[in-house]
Amino acid sequence: MATAADSKLTFTRLPHPAPVPEDAREQALADPGFGTVFSDHMVVIDWDEGTGWHDARIGPREPLALDPATAVLHYAQEIFEGLKAYRLADGSMALFRPEENARRFNQSARRLAMPELPEETFIAACLELVKTDRDWFPSLAGGSLYLRPFMFASEPFLGVRPAKQYKFLVIASPAGNYFKSGAPAVSIWVSSDYTRAAPGGTGAAKCGGNYAASLVPQAEAIERGHDQVVFLDAAEHKWIEELGGMNLFFVMDDGTIITPPLGGTILPGITRNSLITLAREEGLTIREERYSIDQWRDDAASGRLLETFACGTAAVVTAVGRVASRDGEFTIGSGGPGQLTTKLREKLVGIQRGTVEDTHGWVQRVD
Ligand SMILES: *Cc1c(COP(=O)(O)O)cnc(C)c1O
Repeated sequence: MATAADSKLTFTRLPHPAPVPEDAREQALADPGFGTVFSDHMVVIDWDEGTGWHDARIGPREPLALDPATAVLHYAQEIFEGLKAYRLADGSMALFRPEENARRFNQSARRLAMPELPEETFIAACLELVKTDRDWFPSLAGGSLYLRPFMFASEPFLGVRPAKQYKFLVIASPAGNYFKSGAPAVSIWVSSDYTRAAPGGTGAAKCGGNYAASLVPQAEAIERGHDQVVFLDAAEHKWIEELGGMNLFFVMDDGTIITPPLGGTILPGITRNSLITLAREEGLTIREERYSIDQWRDDAASGRLLETFACGTAAVVTAVGRVASRDGEFTIGSGGPGQLTTKLREKLVGIQRGTVEDTHGWVQRVD
């Protein structure tokens, strides 16, 4: 759906009448947590059927005025991405594999019947925002500037069909360390009543609707005293898929690692993909194959399973220490982060932050 106009997109810079004053910004940046503090600016690009992508601009972050009939409010035609900008040891800024986010964004767009955004425009929008809001990196160690590109159907129309107008935006949120250093192992709840994605559905697309459907099972996990929910497959309620927003890896005692295969019901995580590459370089065997909840329990009991970890952009790598379901509970290894979990985490974080050599060209400098 790219039009000739797309390649000529340049960003119009709108003046900001009242950026956050420096002292208030510094205070907000001291311990921003996750997802509550936002930078001064945002990128907006419009699309309509006749013109394609147009009016790319970067300006003050401000509320959007939406007609009550705006299609996204009714039929959830919305997709998003999540990536982090890092400040490296030498003071420069970098993104981690942004071209993968751009590519996945378009995969999601195709599944949700939305127009694709040229990959270079997606990346340019992220770079524009990071450069403009370069003073919004948190001061604390482990901090980053989390970028949230997203697109939604902006046409006011109640009929059910793909919209004829969309908005693409990027906003930025300074983020602290998701877990403080020495990340604790999380405890997870196996949902038996709910599933996240079915074959033929939208499980492989990063769309808001998937998250809406995961909130009740996630709340159930919290209610029962756990941190996260893990979903099983929709057909047999047997095969482990992923958490609400993180992919899973199982480390065996013979040097193999199992991770559920991408079959359309699992989100193809960029962290997942990066860890597969790094683990193979460590001489480990990665098997992308189905792994059942019963096998997980048995392997944890026999000691064949040494570690389990979850991964995603926000928390990077997180050990799973305890698993609970209607059938009872089990502990993995010592219940804390295992050796390989820690090693892979350190390697990936090191590459992202420029302290470990980037042999794959994953780190893209902002300047
Ligand atoms: C975003 C996401 C992930 C992790 O993907 P990354 O690219 O590693 O951040 C995993 N599962 C779901 C459902 C997600 O939405």
